[in-house]
Amino acid sequence: AYFSQRLIEEQRQLSRSSDVTSSSGEAGAASAVADDNVLEQITARITSKLKDELKKELAKEEKEMIQQKDRQQGEMECFLAGELEQATCPICYELMKAPKNTPTLLFPCGHTFCIECLNSHIKLNSRGTCPYCRVKIQNQAPNLQLQQLIDGFAGRKEEIIKKVEKVTRDAAESADSTNSFSLRNVSLSDREQLEDYRREWRTVSMRYRIYTNEAKDCDAEIKEMESKLEATRIVRKHLHGELEDAFKRMQKLQEEIDFIESQLHQQKEKEKDLDADIMAKRKRMNLVNTTKDSLEMERAKIRLLVEHSIPDDVDVFLES
Ligand SMILES: [Zn+2]
Ligand SMILES: [Zn+2]
Repeated sequence: AYFSQRLIEEQRQLSRSSDVTSSSGEAGAASAVADDNVLEQITARITSKLKDELKKELAKEEKEMIQQKDRQQGEMECFLAGELEQATCPICYELMKAPKNTPTLLFPCGHTFCIECLNSHIKLNSRGTCPYCRVKIQNQAPNLQLQQLIDGFAGRKEEIIKKVEKVTRDAAESADSTNSFSLRNVSLSDREQLEDYRREWRTVSMRYRIYTNEAKDCDAEIKEMESKLEATRIVRKHLHGELEDAFKRMQKLQEEIDFIESQLHQQKEKEKDLDADIMAKRKRMNLVNTTKDSLEMERAKIRLLVEHSIPDDVDVFLES
């Protein structure tokens, strides 16, 4: 647009000057023809000059545009590489590179951690919640897209920075200071420094929140355990009481057992005594019977003698 306007302006100037020539006037037809020729020549010369200039400017502009595009792309890659270098696990700060630190996406909250930290978190955290937002984890899967980006860019930051610097230098060498790279006035290192601070802030904040969550969880778990401990103490006290009662009952039973045993003993003694008494009586009975038998024989003998003297009145005689 700039060049076409210039072309129009030049032509306008030319036509104005031809007006002046024609209006100044009485120079005659021949001179007017000569004027026309000169005018044509001048116009042709200017046109071709302008064309060349235009071509040059266009070529330059194109080159600058390509350079700018290269630079922007380079910056983009550089930014991406930087960003991905920050794709570290918020728990261990390791770059989430497979297979050890494979980035693992949680469902449904969408947060990503390295697989190693996630596994140990799940082992410790009985609730199974996201370390960052504490939403219950329903499922998890490797974050393949992030993994591909990390594999492709991370670790190449230096290389990409060098590329960007070269493009920037080339552009600075060839550019007119007028129209390009005013953006460059903010130095790359300042912007990078700020960007670094932002990333660091984000990482540290995320980590801070994770640890705050863990502290909360620990606190809750401790309280839970403490109340469990209290309950166990009460049960233990109760059991102590039971044990004492049981001891008492056992003591009573022991006393009962002792009593019964002593009774048994006494009964045994009694049996023994009675046995002995019975034996003694039996002996005595035998003795008595023997004596009785001999007395019986004696009586029979006497009766026989009496019968012999008074046969009819024996019984009357002996009983009286
Ligand atoms: Zn980790
Ligand atoms: Zn989460």
